[in-house]
Amino acid sequence: MHFKLIIRTLFLRLGTWLSLSVLLGYLLGSVWAALALCSLTVIAWHYRHLYEFINWIWQSKAISPPQADGVWGDIYNGLYRQIKRHRQKQKKLNDKLRQFRDGAEALPDAALVLSKDFIIQWGNKKAQKLLGVRTSGDVGQRIDNLIRFPEFSKYLDAHNWDTPCHIVSPVNHEIHLELRFMAYGTEHLLFIARDVSKIRRLEEMRRDFVANVSHELKTPLTVVRGYVEMIQMEEETFNPHWKKTFATIESQVSRMDRLVEQLLVLSRTEINIDNHDQHLVNVPELIEDLVEDSQWLNQDKKHTITTEIDNSFGLLGFDTELKSAFSNLLSNAIGYTESNGNIHVTWKKLGNRMMYSVKDDGPGISKQHINRLTERFYRVDKSRSRDTGGSGLGLAIVKHVLNHHHAELNIKSDLGKGSEFIIYFDAKSMVSLVN
Ligand code: ADP
Repeated sequence: MHFKLIIRTLFLRLGTWLSLSVLLGYLLGSVWAALALCSLTVIAWHYRHLYEFINWIWQSKAISPPQADGVWGDIYNGLYRQIKRHRQKQKKLNDKLRQFRDGAEALPDAALVLSKDFIIQWGNKKAQKLLGVRTSGDVGQRIDNLIRFPEFSKYLDAHNWDTPCHIVSPVNHEIHLELRFMAYGTEHLLFIARDVSKIRRLEEMRRDFVANVSHELKTPLTVVRGYVEMIQMEEETFNPHWKKTFATIESQVSRMDRLVEQLLVLSRTEINIDNHDQHLVNVPELIEDLVEDSQWLNQDKKHTITTEIDNSFGLLGFDTELKSAFSNLLSNAIGYTESNGNIHVTWKKLGNRMMYSVKDDGPGISKQHINRLTERFYRVDKSRSRDTGGSGLGLAIVKHVLNHHHAELNIKSDLGKGSEFIIYFDAKSMVSLVN
């Protein structure tokens, strides 16, 4: 509406101006000269305003435009309105940006905004404290130019950020950091570094505590066991009541001994986080030895144990750990399956991975337990597990061992039909045993 009025006024003014000059020219006897004079006056007037306009845009610092009437007044009013609208929008945007920055500064973690090719765009103050990334000087740099750890570069290149990466802080080597990347939009990444030193220290304390207690318990247990065995040698002279008592003491001490042993294995497996000492493990031989050794466990149950072993592949890993994981699965199958069952042990290549599996036709496990089986001390049926000498630590040990070996555990089970515990090893752990 406003626009139409301005245009109409513009043409009305021009028309009036031309009509007046034609009338004046007619009265003075020279219409053309009057028209030429009128046009010159219009051009001069516009040029004067153009000059003021250019001067305002390029030279003046004033936000409000110069005073003018006629069409130039309308132009300035329109421009001023646009400027005001633009400034309001900018203010809103700035407020939002400030809110975002305040929020990011309030985070207890270091936060960096990166482009999708890992160039730093922005960072909070914590980023300087934990990562040494200066918000002023380091914007525009690639993040791996500033955080120079091989494990971090590998993590960055892998583009698999479901699990975090752990490094020590480049600024303070006593600080342990957990790093995470989160993609947002199509062009940006949010990079978060969290100080996990306290959690790590607590973890270490817990690990050391369990390891020390288990270690300290070993000696008294061995002594008690020795004495009980000595006493049992004389059992012919005892009254039958004492015979039973000592048998119970012996079985409970043995149980405790196994538990302590498993706790020690778990602590050792947890502490062993250095992958550099891994070496070639001849898995086919290891499994054959295991199956042979398991026969004494199988004496009472008399299961039929069959194997399918591919002799052409071994693994890069820790033999004691792998032995412990493999034997845990086998002894569980022997222990939990009713007598005269069938147990099948497999070691073979599946696609580009290696697979170790122990399949039994035992009682099976109902679905709600399966996800929790690898928790420490988790047992499906406590009394039954106790009867088999179980501590609930076997599968926790398996889980830790697999963490060191690029491997994952898959449990298939049908209640009443049997279970299959399968370990898949990544192609990067596989080693050919045939030259
Ligand atoms: P445990 O030392 O008690 O055997 P594990 O961690 O090895 O502890 O196993 C956890 C639980 O998983 C066991 O208590 C048992 O109930 C169940 N379990 C493990 N293996 C089998 C199996 N082959 N068949 C049935 N149940 C099993």
